[in-house]
Amino acid sequence: MSSAPAVASEIFDVAIVGGGPVGATLGALLVRARPQALRVLLLERDLPDLAEPIDARDLRVFALSRASERVLRVAGAWSTLAAAQDVLAPYERMHVWPRDAAPRSEGSLTFDAAELGEANLGYIVGNDALQRATLAAFIEAGGKLLRAQLDDMDFGAAGVELVTHAGRFTAKLVVGADGGRSRVREIAGLGVEAQDYLQLAIVANVKSERPHEGTAWQRFSGEGTLALLPLASGESSIVWSLPRVRAEALLAAAPHEFASELTTASAGVLGALELASLRRSFPLRRVSAPEYTRERCALVGDAAHIVHPLAGQGVNLGLLDAAALAEVLEAAGCEGEDPGALRVLRRYERWRKSDNELMATALDLFNRFLAFGGDEWSRWVERGLGVVGRSALLRRPFAERALGLAGELPRVARRA
Ligand SMILES: Cc1cc2nc3c(=O)[nH]c(=O)nc-3n(C[C@H](O)[C@H](O)[C@H](O)COP(=O)(O)OP(=O)(O)OC[C@H]3O[C@@H](n4cnc5c(N)ncnc54)[C@H](O)[C@@H]3O)c2cc1C
Repeated sequence: MSSAPAVASEIFDVAIVGGGPVGATLGALLVRARPQALRVLLLERDLPDLAEPIDARDLRVFALSRASERVLRVAGAWSTLAAAQDVLAPYERMHVWPRDAAPRSEGSLTFDAAELGEANLGYIVGNDALQRATLAAFIEAGGKLLRAQLDDMDFGAAGVELVTHAGRFTAKLVVGADGGRSRVREIAGLGVEAQDYLQLAIVANVKSERPHEGTAWQRFSGEGTLALLPLASGESSIVWSLPRVRAEALLAAAPHEFASELTTASAGVLGALELASLRRSFPLRRVSAPEYTRERCALVGDAAHIVHPLAGQGVNLGLLDAAALAEVLEAAGCEGEDPGALRVLRRYERWRKSDNELMATALDLFNRFLAFGGDEWSRWVERGLGVVGRSALLRRPFAERALGLAGELPRVARRA
């Protein structure tokens, strides 16, 4: 926790609601901003015990892009992750193949770090480890962290009053980093457009007969998508997105039946698979806030957008939101502008919204034509995947996307 408790009479430049990976990273970037560090309050209702050592085992993992790695380095969180044993698992290859192609066949697509002149394509990391490392970076930089739930807000001309059970706090700007069911978004009246994919993602850790080869494997199976993400322990983390009824049946199946179905769905790419953990599931929705900002309020991460997890982009997009908003606020601070002014916040919205929408739409199309497929259009898309797979030139822009290095990047995410 913060060394000095937050004082209700203090006026903060920014209050961030939600100390998930995105909110905590934004806080750490803002407090570290030079020459003008901002006074930042971070509210999190379910604070993990930060005194506990970081645990490598987590059912919910992320594939962090190169851009995210850079943002986390500047935020001061990367060194904590790198110092913890077995927490960061680099992956050197990504192999994607559709239903009717065999893995490693002509119809598949492989990205190889060596071919791109990179040491790896990214890192697999657990949600818990990432949250703790980013919260620790925020506190270390002098931010004020409070275990509190936001209940209500009053928007005034000069600031926002945040109502929590731990007291009332005032800030010039409130940022909603409070996830898909954002209370900030709701109270601020920012609205939401949601589409239910009618799917569940099953997550679990598995042991495999053959080594994972530091490769992220992804199969579009015709009934959904299965990703096998390599962990430092030698196990793999699965994200298996399926229609709800099918997923529920698999969640209820005995472990050996589940493992047998999973091995079939993976086309045996790693040999026989065996459950090494409990199974958890997440309902899948696409969510977008039509507006990310209003006077004295901005949304970042899942509070602004939730995308299909089939390409593992959610937290990566959120970290780019955090970096972009921090850059906009830093520049505004240098010009003496009010961080809560709508004209300042709109710069952030214009920057990030189109990029996030583009990714969400691309993932919708992958889900529609590759994960399920079956029609003529899908066969064309599958053939297209094979064509891209056979050409180093065509693979390059897709690889840049996967590394998170495409589009207009915030300064801290660019190549050093
Ligand atoms: C199955 C699955 C697999 C995924 N895999 C990947 C992947 O490989 N790569 C990737 O990039 N993304 C992935 N994602 C997406 C990723 O999980 C999210 O994008 C990411 O967790 C969003 O982070 P966030 O900080 O915005 O929100 P969250 O992590 O949801 O954090 C929000 C925080 O706000 C707090 N909060 C909420 N309300 C309040 C309140 N009123 N007051 C105070 N605090 C509050 C919550 O306690 C929480 O800590 C996956 C998602 C799913 C479902």
